[in-house]
Amino acid sequence: MTRVFNFSAGPAALPQEVLEQLRDEMVDWHGQGMSVMEMSHRGKTFVGIAQQAEADLRELLAVPSNYKVLFLQGGATAQFAAIPYNLTTSASVADYVNTGAWSKKAIGEAKRYCKVNVAADPAASNYTSVPAQSEWKLTPGAAYLHYTPNETIGGVEFPFVPDTGDVPLVADFSSTILSRPIDISRFGVVYAGAQKNIGPAGLVVVIVREDLLGHARPDVPTVFDWKAMAADGSMLNTPATYSWYVAGLVFQWIKRQGGLAAMEKLNRAKAERLYGAIDSSGFYANPVAKPCRSWMNVPFTLANADLDKPFLDGAKQAGLVTLEGHRSVGGMRASIYNAMPLAGVEALVQYMQEFQRRNG
Ligand code: PMP
Repeated sequence: MTRVFNFSAGPAALPQEVLEQLRDEMVDWHGQGMSVMEMSHRGKTFVGIAQQAEADLRELLAVPSNYKVLFLQGGATAQFAAIPYNLTTSASVADYVNTGAWSKKAIGEAKRYCKVNVAADPAASNYTSVPAQSEWKLTPGAAYLHYTPNETIGGVEFPFVPDTGDVPLVADFSSTILSRPIDISRFGVVYAGAQKNIGPAGLVVVIVREDLLGHARPDVPTVFDWKAMAADGSMLNTPATYSWYVAGLVFQWIKRQGGLAAMEKLNRAKAERLYGAIDSSGFYANPVAKPCRSWMNVPFTLANADLDKPFLDGAKQAGLVTLEGHRSVGGMRASIYNAMPLAGVEALVQYMQEFQRRNG
């Protein structure tokens, strides 16, 4: 068996240990004579698997008891609509901070349902930094403030958690959840598509403070209604059972690694190693302001774009794959989520240095 180091932004690499456990449990889960994929979501066995996954996620993130944890479908994109559906009327104003491609998508969707005030938009810096909160134009009494703690394409990460007082803070943690501890009590809603740090694509985890439930518009599609979903334990309809189970195994893997404090230490070390190599090379470059550099998604360019293809071809031969940047920006991007070991980053840095020696 040859496993590569997969730097995909998502769907992304899963921990090998989890994949091996999935293989071992695939056909006959714990002597049940069937796969988790084949189990009724209402049966005792799957309900137990689902509840254990929620309990482990709650433990990892220290989710306070006045928050519901939902395991929903439709990816983070479904939540771009669910958020205004659940938190606004058509007369409400919602504040959004635009730090790049994913903020922009969330804004575009929200505009279909409510008034949107873009409180900050660092277009002038080509989205290479996060403007200080003192520069934002916030709406008094806004329905909520939405931001994207980590921009997966631009590789821009918030170095702070915004302070919005009584206005609920809503955050798209798709590409940074579980990469380090966060204080859930600062947020009204935290949501994250699964396919980076949680598990298979399609699943989206929503953590919502209870006082924000029950305000949905009357015409909300039932599957988007957080209160209805919470009331049924995310099983108002058939949930993404297998993805939920895989997520649970990933949560247990993170716990075995030492939880989010250990993930933080590992992720910091990986990011420092890669950015350090880029900055000291005089050949590779990353445009993001240093305090705002993502620990999860590291875009970089080569001194000469004609070398992009040879770089990618050589990388592939060395077992380093999916390094091409997002189709909208080009260049390279190394996504180094929780499941990427330090050895993967080390192998990438070695390859980058060798490529520079040959082509620099
Ligand atoms: N938000 C962010 C920050 C993302 O990176 C992505 C996917 N890459 C999405 C939202 C959309 O997620 P999905 O495709 O699961 O709807």
